[in-house]
Amino acid sequence: MDWLKTAQSREQELVAELQQLIQIESILDEENATDVVPFGDGPLAALSFMLDKGAEQGMTVKNIDNMAGHIEMGEGEDLLGILCHVDVVPVGSDWTYPPFEGRVVDGKLFGRGAIDDKGPTMAAWLAMKMIKDAGIPLNKRVRMIIGSDEESGFRCVDRYFEKEEMPGIGFAPDADFPLINAEKGIAHIVFSQKARRHAEEQLISFQSGKRTNMVPDKAIASLQKISENAELNFRKFLLENDAEGSFAEQGERYIISIKGKSAHAMEPQKGRNAAVLLSKFLSTELEAGAGYDFANFMVELFDGDHYGSALSLNFSDEMSGQTTLNPGIVTFGDNGGSIEVSMRYAVSYPFEEKMTQAQQLLGTKPFALDIADNSTPHYVSEDDELVQTLLGVYRNHTADFSKPLSTGGGTYARVMKKGVAFGMLFPGEPDVAHQADEFVIVENLVKAAAIYAEAIVKLASK
Ligand SMILES: [Zn+2]
Repeated sequence: MDWLKTAQSREQELVAELQQLIQIESILDEENATDVVPFGDGPLAALSFMLDKGAEQGMTVKNIDNMAGHIEMGEGEDLLGILCHVDVVPVGSDWTYPPFEGRVVDGKLFGRGAIDDKGPTMAAWLAMKMIKDAGIPLNKRVRMIIGSDEESGFRCVDRYFEKEEMPGIGFAPDADFPLINAEKGIAHIVFSQKARRHAEEQLISFQSGKRTNMVPDKAIASLQKISENAELNFRKFLLENDAEGSFAEQGERYIISIKGKSAHAMEPQKGRNAAVLLSKFLSTELEAGAGYDFANFMVELFDGDHYGSALSLNFSDEMSGQTTLNPGIVTFGDNGGSIEVSMRYAVSYPFEEKMTQAQQLLGTKPFALDIADNSTPHYVSEDDELVQTLLGVYRNHTADFSKPLSTGGGTYARVMKKGVAFGMLFPGEPDVAHQADEFVIVENLVKAAAIYAEAIVKLASK
């Protein structure tokens, strides 16, 4: 069976269905959410659209509480899951093309969700239809599981798997080719200062960052009773560190701010943390007190180091690389300092042991360490039949022999017991998910449909 040829002959149908799906504005609408319409009208309309498509094709469909659903084909004991989502993030500004149209320009289809995740969903959907029309007997059930709240916390699939069977194997067309088989653990850890601020001390407040999953690009501090040379020192600091910032006098107070560079928390080395930078300046300027301790602690832990070496939190392994720490929300006020960190730890990280050790190392230091949240790593061995089969199919179609990937981000695959992310961004393609003018290359959409069809047949028939 030449899957690519078959997919090419159905390109128009693929594009038309994707446009219809993109035209549904499936953004979470918490304000108008009810028990019946849990994520608002848009996400539910997109979910219903897919389930109607499945029913039209005579496949078994099921809706789980208007949050998620599935389209199933094939027969047998075992279940293969294909995990997709039809909700999208808000559009933002600066679009050249209408975000909810699906216009094709120079071989690219533009629209919110084109690559995340409506395009890949439609490619997988065409794959299922091609298999059905080819009359290929399946000895496993193949189930496309469709979520409508992936972008805001996975409530869709959480509910789905409370009620429905977990597939024995599965893949999620919601990331990169060749495939991602290793996802780091994601922990939210918090350092809290043990002492309070004294009313007379120099540092009054410090504020940087709103989310732990981003490198903060701005930090601002309010001070009093600073040295005569403070402004000069600050100018010098900016020059020496090739940074931008401002220094302003407001009555008795001085407001100092500094700029950094934003990046995703899974790759903190790609950004420049403004909180760390400003702390570095403050550590040379402050004389004593809780603020002084706070700035020095920040420098000791994070200046020039994204790996937590100071508390022996550093650890790397071959399957997933380095453990990284991103201090994403950093504040100081009357209650002292607080540093919220998103930590992306390697698959084989001895988490409990490392945390206990860090707490001991903190010992007499002025900060305590707490774990606010922990999502454990996800890993399917490269030798596993699932990984080998998917890699084989991908290589067949692309002659690209690159190795499976690991990520510090979480993909949809991590909700499955044995699942990997499989496409559909090809190596070297820019990742335009969540950005203005999000697009999918139509030729790649067709190619992905062929890859998915062959993968499903290889995994679910004899
Ligand atoms: Zn996605």
